[in-house]
Amino acid sequence: MVCFDAILVKMNGEGGVNELAQDVLCEVNNCVYWAHGNQCEADKIYVVSHTGKEADKQEETDCKTFEPQH
Ligand code: SF4
Repeated sequence: MVCFDAILVKMNGEGGVNELAQDVLCEVNNCVYWAHGNQCEADKIYVVSHTGKEADKQEETDCKTFEPQH
């Protein structure tokens, strides 16, 4: 049996595939996608540089998929 959930891939520009991150760990526990064990349950996340420029440090990146719990 082939399990299509086991690995996510996307085509790269050279006709091959790249693996995508499977297990996103996150400490932002007030996000609607956050689950126990610091698991992210979003189907995908979008990470950006919050300075709007090229990031030099991890502190300069943010998850744009974040949605606060109400
Ligand atoms: S969507 Fe972003 S902020 Fe929310 S749990 Fe996932 S990684 Fe964390």
